[in-house]
Amino acid sequence: MAEQWVMKKCPVCGKEFLPAGMHSYKIGTNSCHLKLVCTYTCQRKWEREQEEKRKKKHKGKLVKIVETGETFKSVIECAKHLNAPPEYLYRCISSGKTYKGYHIERVR
Ligand SMILES: [Zn+2]
Repeated sequence: MAEQWVMKKCPVCGKEFLPAGMHSYKIGTNSCHLKLVCTYTCQRKWEREQEEKRKKKHKGKLVKIVETGETFKSVIECAKHLNAPPEYLYRCISSGKTYKGYHIERVR
């Protein structure tokens, strides 16, 4: 029996399927690590998920001043706003201490 007749498990939907030779659908970020998926739908689904993950990573974490409700893209921006050294704010975030009476926390 040729190897392509071995049933594969689709990493996206978990279904068993028979890879269809030349017309198989693949996922993977580089050609060395391609995995076979059962259908084009699963391939697209995986690609969309990767895109979402990338977007989320890009967005980063937000920083919020609890008392005022103001949010900032980064600790650096928050520090500029408060005219505080960023290292100090990092410490406030991790320890829960306040800066000039303000609580600084990370938000998702
Ligand atoms: Zn699938």
